[in-house]
Amino acid sequence: MQKKKILVVDDERINLHLLARVLSEQYEVITVQSGLDALVEAEYFLPDLILLDVMMPELDGFQTFRLLKAHPVLSQKPVIFLTGHTDIESQYKGLDLGAVDYMLKPFNISLIRLRVRNILERESLREVIKVKQAELEAILNTIPDLMFKLDRQGTYLEIFARQPELLAQQRIDLLGRRICDMLPPEAAVQAMTAIAEAHETGTSYGMQMKLPLAGKMHWFELSVAKNESSNPDNPHFVMLSRNITDRKQAEEHLNYLAQHDNLTGLANRALFGEIVDRILGLAERTRLLFALVFIDLDKFKHINDTFGHAIGDFVLQQAANRISNTVRTTDTVGRIGGDEFVVLLPNIASRQEAIQIMERVRMVLAEPIIAQGKAFSISSSIGMAFYPDHGQTMIELTKRADDAMYEAKSSGRNRVCVFSESAMDCVVNG
Ligand code: GH3
Ligand code: MG
Repeated sequence: MQKKKILVVDDERINLHLLARVLSEQYEVITVQSGLDALVEAEYFLPDLILLDVMMPELDGFQTFRLLKAHPVLSQKPVIFLTGHTDIESQYKGLDLGAVDYMLKPFNISLIRLRVRNILERESLREVIKVKQAELEAILNTIPDLMFKLDRQGTYLEIFARQPELLAQQRIDLLGRRICDMLPPEAAVQAMTAIAEAHETGTSYGMQMKLPLAGKMHWFELSVAKNESSNPDNPHFVMLSRNITDRKQAEEHLNYLAQHDNLTGLANRALFGEIVDRILGLAERTRLLFALVFIDLDKFKHINDTFGHAIGDFVLQQAANRISNTVRTTDTVGRIGGDEFVVLLPNIASRQEAIQIMERVRMVLAEPIIAQGKAFSISSSIGMAFYPDHGQTMIELTKRADDAMYEAKSSGRNRVCVFSESAMDCVVNG
């Protein structure tokens, strides 16, 4: 290992000799006789420790010390003042200026050895801490997550944010404040739940929360760890908050694709089924009346066969829009097959109300659709079944609405039929 370097500054040769002899057993020692020489020598020698006599002609120890402290590199070097036994004033002043220690003349050799050793050890430790700190900062700089130090009450104690635009407020406005005062209530509950879990078990992973930032919703995933070396009566927590907005949006998009029809954007069979199930659950409890409706376009194959699939697609899209725009906003429209649509009309006051809505849909669908400068006429056959009279389950109601739709087809198309065990009740052309 490389020897530590010590610069000894004293105008009296005898002192220099003595100190050099004692210290050079373990250290690399350079001696100079004046403050000015000390400054010049220190720049090249870069000592780990400077022993500096206070009483010197020209530049005294304190003046030399001040010049050292003003130097960009040497200012960090520890200095021990060498001072007379009786000179209490200098001892105070030296320590007050920032010297790490003082040594009294005449020197006690054993004490000098121990003091120098202790101070150099302390400086080495300080150096290690500095290096570790720099390493830690470098690591933190690679983490894109927001990092918070918090207490059990959610007070922001420290914030490290490489992307400050992801903070709910400016860093300076958050520090010293509490999560519950700075985040929207729902997000605050999630964050505090994560802290509570980390308080109980030491860590918490995977809690998600959303925050509106610059007018856009952002998603964050939280990882919290309790700092086990903090005061048990007031423990501290480190929280990493990862921006998962892109992932969330991709998930939402996949979900959307899994639940919606590609061509028309309507609910697909799976989503429509879920919504009917939900309404069934609600209706069982509240005895709501609702209608399930099947719509099938009449002779749609003819459009495909005569004008091509692209026009057929366009007609389907137009039909979807017309149905959606005609029903109430609380109704759900789905596409469950080629030219087959379904509608759920929840919360209707009477059968008549629902029949009127579907009769309007039938009329709106019958209006010509213009594509590529041509007008296409298409009509629809609509079948309706009502909860609870025609069925208590999704399967029963679907079957009955489908039966009613086939009745509409077989009795001449372009009409709305309501399921009936005996004779189906159909409205013909309004
Ligand atoms: P009906 O009055 O008896 O309902 O006669 P239809 O010609 O409408 O017969 P049906 O409802 O059985 O046929 C639906 C047709 O829809 C069959 C298929 O060629 C067509 N189709 C299914 N999916 C699509 C699609 O995504 N785009 C287009 N353009 N056509 C489709
Ligand atoms: Mg059809």
